[in-house]
Amino acid sequence: MTSLSKICLHWTGGNNYPCDKDLDSYHFCVDKDGKIYKGTYEPEDNINCQDGIYARHCGGGNTGCIGISACGMKGFTERKKETSCPLTQKQVEAMCCLSAYLSHKYGILINEKQVFTHYEFDQRKQKPEGKIDIIYIPYLPNLQINRIGGYFRNKIEWYKQQIKKGKYKLQKKGNYYEFVSVF
Ligand SMILES: [Zn+2]
Repeated sequence: MTSLSKICLHWTGGNNYPCDKDLDSYHFCVDKDGKIYKGTYEPEDNINCQDGIYARHCGGGNTGCIGISACGMKGFTERKKETSCPLTQKQVEAMCCLSAYLSHKYGILINEKQVFTHYEFDQRKQKPEGKIDIIYIPYLPNLQINRIGGYFRNKIEWYKQQIKKGKYKLQKKGNYYEFVSVF
């Protein structure tokens, strides 16, 4: 593997803001206000995982894969579907806009083999581990589990078109980044 070819979307299962462990685990964390925090490792660190210096976000699939995580969903289980830290729409939009930006930057195509949720990745394993990120979108509670990956990919494709037209720009603001619309 000599390049970055995949993006895996997660939730942290924690609070709505990243903790140190989150920043070690993912290349980017997105808080509930859509603010984007760079993780400890660069996406390029995951081109070669043999040296042990990389973000461990997707067991069995870290090589060549960028990890983005939405902060939240603490305590959520598939049965109860409750959390004190639900993902927000603003957060999901920022995660999709960031995915589009990275897809454009690294030439990653948007399809289910290259841009996927951790849940989708896990389901394709011979023995799934039971990953639940992302099987539920709090502001769209009726969206079926098997439609969620497609929901993200559609959004990411739309943002990619906008980014190509120069309509969204990534801005650094203190210790975080934010996408700004320039319509
Ligand atoms: Zn995950």
